[in-house]
Amino acid sequence: MLRFEQVTKSYSGGFVALDRVSFHLEKGEMAFLTGHSGAGKSTLLKLISLIERPTTGKVFINGVDLSRVSKGQVPYVRRDIGMIFQNHKLLMNHSVFDNVALPLVIEGFSGKDMTKRVHAALDKVGLLDKVRCLPHMLSGGEQQRVGIARAVVNRPPLLLADEPTGNLDPDLSKDIMNVFEAFNQVGVSVLIASHDLSLLARMRYRTLTLKNGRMINDGLTSYGADE
Ligand code: ADP
Ligand code: ADP
Repeated sequence: MLRFEQVTKSYSGGFVALDRVSFHLEKGEMAFLTGHSGAGKSTLLKLISLIERPTTGKVFINGVDLSRVSKGQVPYVRRDIGMIFQNHKLLMNHSVFDNVALPLVIEGFSGKDMTKRVHAALDKVGLLDKVRCLPHMLSGGEQQRVGIARAVVNRPPLLLADEPTGNLDPDLSKDIMNVFEAFNQVGVSVLIASHDLSLLARMRYRTLTLKNGRMINDGLTSYGADE
């Protein structure tokens, strides 16, 4: 599904944010990406979503070499990736429905097809009853779930999340993780960047650990196993 081969990313000025990173995420696998602030987590996600390009090395999604993707093809690659952010980036003066429908509108969906898909996505995150609400009427956890519904509405095979529980308390964080698990269980590949170690310990998934841009560990979480 996703493959990094010896990927290095230097930003202008020469700062090396990622240093020869290699890993492989199988189709249908769910993993965490962790490491200190500044370790390179966001940079790694940005290379997958084509917001940044590697300085050297290669990234593949479903066998497609991203270095061969032209600017014009970027939107097509991004269609296969659902992205979830810490500050969910919702349009605050538009309804939950409109927020979730946005990626479909961009793809040219309308009418019944669009409504059916939006409702299916909201149903999966448990928010069907909030479809007419404005985001400010929802709690932080609910707003985050709207962000997830928007990310999955065009059924991407890969979900990327950048600190999705950063603003949530532990119970709500667990709820959000359950939503990711539910998508994973129907075959979606999921990569979640998080530095919330207590959450990672409770989840026990494969965890990729970055330190100063190097991948220093790739395995099951080992801290706080009895928590
Ligand atoms: P993390 O998500 O793990 O906190 P980042 O990938 O955001 O780490 O950042 C890794 C390093 O790269 C940091 O030292 C950061 O300051 C630097 N960095 C990130 N983006 C840029 C940029 N656009 N230009 C220069 N340096 C950057
Ligand atoms: P329908 O519109 O026919 O009711 P759904 O939207 O409910 O279909 O989804 C059909 C199937 O696709 C479900 O089993 C769903 O869980 C699965 N599915 C696979 N990948 C995704 C994804 N990324 N987002 C949402 N559903 C997905």
